[in-house]
Amino acid sequence: MEQNDFEHGKRCFLFYKENLLCKLLEGKSLDVPLVEEVNALGFGAEGRLDVVVQDGTQHVAQQLYHPLEAPLINQPTLPSGWQWIGLRASFDVLPLQRYLQAGKASQILYWDSHSRFCPACGTATEQINAITKRCPRCHYEIYPPIATAIIVLVKRGEDELLLVHARNFRGSFKGLVAGFLEAGETLEQCVAREVMEETGLQIAHIRYVDSQSWPYPSGLMVGFVADYVSGEIKMQEEELSTAAFYHRDHLPEIPRKVSIARRLIDLWIERKI
Ligand SMILES: [Zn+2]
Repeated sequence: MEQNDFEHGKRCFLFYKENLLCKLLEGKSLDVPLVEEVNALGFGAEGRLDVVVQDGTQHVAQQLYHPLEAPLINQPTLPSGWQWIGLRASFDVLPLQRYLQAGKASQILYWDSHSRFCPACGTATEQINAITKRCPRCHYEIYPPIATAIIVLVKRGEDELLLVHARNFRGSFKGLVAGFLEAGETLEQCVAREVMEETGLQIAHIRYVDSQSWPYPSGLMVGFVADYVSGEIKMQEEELSTAAFYHRDHLPEIPRKVSIARRLIDLWIERKI
């Protein structure tokens, strides 16, 4: 039954701020509602966008900007069986495929709201297709932007890894060095630069491991592993509050499973990277 749900019927990924409208299924699991179910709740269709997801199915995405557009928010309680849930938190309660679809919907909505006018000449843009807008005056084309960032697990020998706590982390856990790709850089140059800037360490043997779409609001995280070579940790204090090597037998709190940081750390714990 649930498998068929993925194949039949358009879903409506309806966001208010960062919260996604979900319906409760039997038991405690949640899913994203069908378009007709959202209509039945009384939401208008204005601003709905087509979103084609990776498996080729088409769904719709809609962003509410004002509480008046979201009658359910103004009620003391949602109708029984409905719930708003943050996109990050939805990772824990939605089927993985649906979480990934919601991430794409969120990125398309972000792009749509940030591409209403041509950045070159200021004219209102026209929608050409689901992922293209064009300026009717100067013909500049705008596609959903993707900010590329690297994240790297630095090993020291086989039993130690570098963990940091960045000031922008949402929580007390310790994670991996990460940062945005700059113009003119290769991914490997970005990895080496970020590690040097944030910790003062020299690394080598930078190897690609995995990547992850990161829809907060619109990024791609590219994950690497690298070997420590030399240097003492000199922390970049504006960005980090701690940075140290940890032995695999004494790991601190690590990131949640929603992030590629955790995937890289889990691979290292299993001695696969
Ligand atoms: Zn223009």
